[in-house]
Amino acid sequence: MARSVTVLGATGSVGRSTLALIEAAPPGAFAVEALVANRDVATLAAQAQLFAPRFVAVADPSCWGALKAALGGSGITLAAGPEAVEEAASRRADWTMAAIVGAAGLRSTLAALARGGTLALANKESLVCAAELVLAVAAAGGATLLPVDSEHNAIFQALQGADPKGVERIVLTASGGPFRTWEPERMARATPEEAVRHPVWSMGAKISVDSATMMNKGLELIEAARLFPVPHDRIDVLVHPQSAVHGLVQYVDGSILAQLGTPDMRTPIAHALAWPERIAVATPRLDLAALARLEFFAPDPERFPALRLAREALQAGGGAPTILNAANEVAVARFLERRLGFLDIAAVVEATLVGLVAPRAEGLEAILALDAAAREAARLQADRRALVN
Ligand code: MG
Repeated sequence: MARSVTVLGATGSVGRSTLALIEAAPPGAFAVEALVANRDVATLAAQAQLFAPRFVAVADPSCWGALKAALGGSGITLAAGPEAVEEAASRRADWTMAAIVGAAGLRSTLAALARGGTLALANKESLVCAAELVLAVAAAGGATLLPVDSEHNAIFQALQGADPKGVERIVLTASGGPFRTWEPERMARATPEEAVRHPVWSMGAKISVDSATMMNKGLELIEAARLFPVPHDRIDVLVHPQSAVHGLVQYVDGSILAQLGTPDMRTPIAHALAWPERIAVATPRLDLAALARLEFFAPDPERFPALRLAREALQAGGGAPTILNAANEVAVARFLERRLGFLDIAAVVEATLVGLVAPRAEGLEAILALDAAAREAARLQADRRALVN
């Protein structure tokens, strides 16, 4: 029997890698139920022609005409708009990839969890903004949640069979991003092109900028605190420029188990796709002799304040992580539009966190309302910074 698969965020980096693995699998192993993209109709239509899903949706309603022109008459049910994305996520599937970037992925992640099956979670913002809700909906729907973020997937693997009482610390590794060794004066003038030129991983623009500020690691710290049974102060971050070790678990007897591999998202995606089995993937293998050395450094809190902000938001709890995430999305978008300096990203996030009270937001609508309020506050902070510069 083919496993039915839905890919939310099919045209992004993780979505394309997921479909490449499905294409390489033996014929009949997988059947694609639904594909969803934001607005890249050309890529989505090509994917639909190759995988023949039952349902295809674009989130941006203005792309409806283009989608109909590309796939009308194909026999595939087509839809557009936010409700169409939720409908795609609600359709029965054995396995779903949740790879829509940002808080925009929250509703569809919840819809997929509510109807059960396995959810491979690449959208870290769902857990950052709405962890309690996500985990409660997963439990109620009987869904299995598998982390795809490479660090969390690594820790998930290193925790297999572990008794939580035996776990002492977990460690997320960070490449350090393109500005790992830059002086603050140079970082202040960094352009979007420089920020998205990641030294190791090939990723989308938003997550690449997050990697340059290290907010990506901050969001991953919060994500790890939600996913794994370890207190906040026992989750560490280490800068590891080679990106060969993706995550480590230290046990109470002093053992450390780590997951290593080439920095290629196909490995964690394949792990989630086949779990609890494994499938062969033709990624370049990690050549430890060629690599020769693995380096680790403590992160620099002065040049990379985003990590401190994320830890503070995690400790503050309530709605603080939601505000952190929303403000960061606004600031990164402004930076990519050249309306904000690189160092202003963390400054906008900090000012937004300081300026907003963060009540505990319960339920999806309360979380989305807090997200919207934080975006508005962050826009005002960003306008203010832009005037100063
Ligand atoms: Mg990651």
